[in-house]
Amino acid sequence: MNNRSAPRALAAATTALLALGGVTACSDNTAAGGDPQQVDVVAAFYPLQFIAERIGGDAVKVSNLVKPGAEPHDLELNPGQVGEVAQAKLVVYLKGFQPAVDEAVAQNATDRAFDVATVQPLLNAAGVDDHGHAGEQAGQTAPGQEAETGGKDPHFWLDPTRLATVADQLAERLGKVDPARAADFTARAKTLHTDLQTLDAEYAASLKTCQRREIVTSHTAFGYLAKHYQLEQVGITGLSPETEPSPQRLAEVAKDARAHQATTIFFETLVSPKVADTIAAEVGAKTAVLDPLEGLSADNGGDYLSVMRTNLQTLRTALSCS
Ligand SMILES: [Zn+2]
Repeated sequence: MNNRSAPRALAAATTALLALGGVTACSDNTAAGGDPQQVDVVAAFYPLQFIAERIGGDAVKVSNLVKPGAEPHDLELNPGQVGEVAQAKLVVYLKGFQPAVDEAVAQNATDRAFDVATVQPLLNAAGVDDHGHAGEQAGQTAPGQEAETGGKDPHFWLDPTRLATVADQLAERLGKVDPARAADFTARAKTLHTDLQTLDAEYAASLKTCQRREIVTSHTAFGYLAKHYQLEQVGITGLSPETEPSPQRLAEVAKDARAHQATTIFFETLVSPKVADTIAAEVGAKTAVLDPLEGLSADNGGDYLSVMRTNLQTLRTALSCS
């Protein structure tokens, strides 16, 4: 492989990926040492890595542009990663979600890129939806949050049926890249599709009868999940994981949560538990972690399916489902 720029970035990425243990073993390789028969696939963030690895199996070598524990929003690429995109046989990404990836694709990989947003239309982002929450988040989107997709909500993977549809299309696309293994890709996609359908059925059954259906979240990532399972997402805006909110901001958030009579406030793993606890104590609510699955956090040690099942248990408890 005449790849001069990628190895450095890959080495760094590999070191980081190793911290996750066996989960990402498929990504543990370098351009120099990889199996030349393997198809190099670059995934723009975790759920795309998950489906690419499940469908590709041993035939593909998947690298994720987002380092473990980092958020895919506002991802910046180093020159080595731009090189990876340029060298990949297939780049799986969501156009409009990560501008740096869009740019790298536009410059070097338009003919080898699979934009998963083309598979099915994205929903409008919170604040411009038609569920009576117009204006609630309009103009208040936190920096680096959901505004990048032109008013569209990028988090489609939190509806397993949508991820299954994307996975089927990815298998077809991979089959074009490596026609000799197309049947394998199709077969693996079928297995994955069944796993995702099973997960969907569990969600539907487990969330059928609940005392509450409102989910108050610090990151409005759960629009697809809410829509598919008839829940209502209420976003608390302006809480970015990186910054400690001001006392004024905390008071506003508490007011917001109180107005929605929240009994549980959902935070993502990256928000400091201190902030969550402060707000919850103020409101008299509990806190719980609902993982938006934008990346695998080092401590959850699972995969898309297991984290989704943990989320389901969290929702059942918080919403008092019978
Ligand atoms: Zn997000």
